[in-house]
Amino acid sequence: MEEENKPVEGETVIVAAPEAEEPKADNGYKDITLTCAECGKEFVWTAGEQAFYAEHGFRQPKRCKECRPIHNARIDEARKERAANGGYSDATKSVAVTDDSKTILN
Ligand SMILES: [Zn+2]
Repeated sequence: MEEENKPVEGETVIVAAPEAEEPKADNGYKDITLTCAECGKEFVWTAGEQAFYAEHGFRQPKRCKECRPIHNARIDEARKERAANGGYSDATKSVAVTDDSKTILN
């Protein structure tokens, strides 16, 4: 008599096939966890991003994705402000000059 209903012990082995690895770009990069300099939260700098940064000569990001646009906007604003003031902010000086000329005219 053959036992056909033996518990199949080897079955789990088949199930345990390794999860298909994500199709990583073949660039040798690995995801890195960095700490945001702005909010202190940890964020993942993915392999793909690292490759992108390296390609463009960017340095390692200091801020998370949430803080980066805020920081960039701040830099942008400061830059625009400086440009609007003709390089440096000497707006107060020109006001003083107009006041002086008024006094002279009187
Ligand atoms: Zn942040």
